[in-house]
Amino acid sequence: LLADGTETDALSGDIFKQHHASLVSGYFEANNVPLCLACSKRNVLRSAAPGSYSNMTDILLNCGLCDTHGFMVTTKNKSDENGEKREGIAKHSLIEFSMALADPKYFAESAQLHTRTGESQMIMTISGRSGEYAMCVRYTAAGVGVDTQTWKIILKDQSKRIIRHKSILLALRDQLLSPTGAMTTWQLPHLAGLSGSIIYIEQVGRAPIFSPLQSGFQDTLEKLGKILGDQCTVYRFENIVEFTELMTMLANETEPSYPSTYKEM
Ligand SMILES: [Zn+2]
Repeated sequence: LLADGTETDALSGDIFKQHHASLVSGYFEANNVPLCLACSKRNVLRSAAPGSYSNMTDILLNCGLCDTHGFMVTTKNKSDENGEKREGIAKHSLIEFSMALADPKYFAESAQLHTRTGESQMIMTISGRSGEYAMCVRYTAAGVGVDTQTWKIILKDQSKRIIRHKSILLALRDQLLSPTGAMTTWQLPHLAGLSGSIIYIEQVGRAPIFSPLQSGFQDTLEKLGKILGDQCTVYRFENIVEFTELMTMLANETEPSYPSTYKEM
């Protein structure tokens, strides 16, 4: 439900995040980025799974996915039935997805009859959706290999951070170019266009987010970029080819900053 009371279709940001985790795991494995036991089995508990690493340093050094998508190991007090005690540790995800909301002016849902053959033929009504969706993604590249609660760097080898960073961006690119969803064996979603803006900053702070549901959002982001100054870069893409070129360029030519307190030896 939008604030003005309009009901519209929404795609879950949580599902987008899960699909990114799955895609980036493939990139990590192909590029020799280690994964913890739970992540290598695609266990969504990640380092909270029993038998995993138990401290921040081991987790961040030994699992690219826990480093990227975050994890939460809860505190266990002595009162635990096994007598096990441990400190809670957590890292927030470096990549965050909004819900993808359909622009109510460009959205349609239609009921379609499908037949399913089996022991007896069944007729089912299934809805099909078509629309223009708005979503935002935030990625904190500087947090790769970093304990983001204290902003202390754990993975100091920049070449290893760059491989993780590149994999994260390429997985995001692939995910948007080839979307997935439920029941894709027969209703694979497909893009008919893609436009938007990519805004990033190379300093402490945060790049602004502005909803693509607002008309002229790309102009607004460009104005914000000018106010924010030299450290801020805004790219605009109007189609799938421009988006692919930009994401590929960012994956190949950018790298995660070090936290401001860290001095390279
Ligand atoms: Zn992991």
